[in-house]
Amino acid sequence: MRIDIVSIFPEYFAPLDLSLIGKARSSQVDLAVHDLRQWTFDVHRTVDDTPYGGGPGMVMKPEPWGLALDALNSPSAQIIVPSPAGKPFTQEMAASLVPADHLIFACGRYEGIDQRVIEHYGATEVSLGDYVLFGGEVAVLVMLEAIIRLIPGVLGNASSLDEESHANGLLESPVYTKPPSWRELDVPEILRSGDHGKIARWRRDQALLRTASLRPDLLEKVWPTLDKRDLALLAEAGFASPGADVAE
Ligand code: SAM
Repeated sequence: MRIDIVSIFPEYFAPLDLSLIGKARSSQVDLAVHDLRQWTFDVHRTVDDTPYGGGPGMVMKPEPWGLALDALNSPSAQIIVPSPAGKPFTQEMAASLVPADHLIFACGRYEGIDQRVIEHYGATEVSLGDYVLFGGEVAVLVMLEAIIRLIPGVLGNASSLDEESHANGLLESPVYTKPPSWRELDVPEILRSGDHGKIARWRRDQALLRTASLRPDLLEKVWPTLDKRDLALLAEAGFASPGADVAE
């Protein structure tokens, strides 16, 4: 996979040399960070201007972005522009980007990038959540962490992807390590029993209960896939079918 990132703050991407992402960079991912200002030609290396129609703040000019994206574009490239007005970024979206040959991330600052750039390149605007950041850099770091760890071979133990939160629509069950007792809090006995069948069932139950109490919106989506035992567990814990209120 080739990944190009364009930003006026290339220094933001130093963490991409660390940890498993740094390792993936040397094998599976060919990643380059570019300073947008290299595509400016005035003495101040200007990348922004006042907004048409008035209002506060500055808007990123289309010309440097056009030169940058023309230079980096390829027939297989998908251009992604982080934006609070974009499609919400999810684990599903991260997984859908794993097979991509070439991703280009265009990091906005100020009031954002002139909309004609997004239109001209058919770029996809992607939001990290319903809040506003200073710029797209942190959003790109988050997206890259989510995408790169899904690339086959990046994680040492790929099976850890199967049961983690959002992989199957549920949150993962809580996890514990040694010691068995810490500050008078004990690791659930079942996890130390060695009975793999019971442990798997306990983890499933915990995932269901945790999702029901913390993220009922997620549970609603997987509700039709739950079996009788799942439903009985949830009913016993006081979680009714999400459609129940509506039906009454
Ligand atoms: N004026 C814009 C608006 O209200 O939609 C916000 C601009 S924000 C200050 C500057 C840049 O930060 C955006 O162009 C985008 O690249 C990035 N950004 C801010 N919030 C974001 C979010 N929730 N998700 C992804 N990118 C975000």
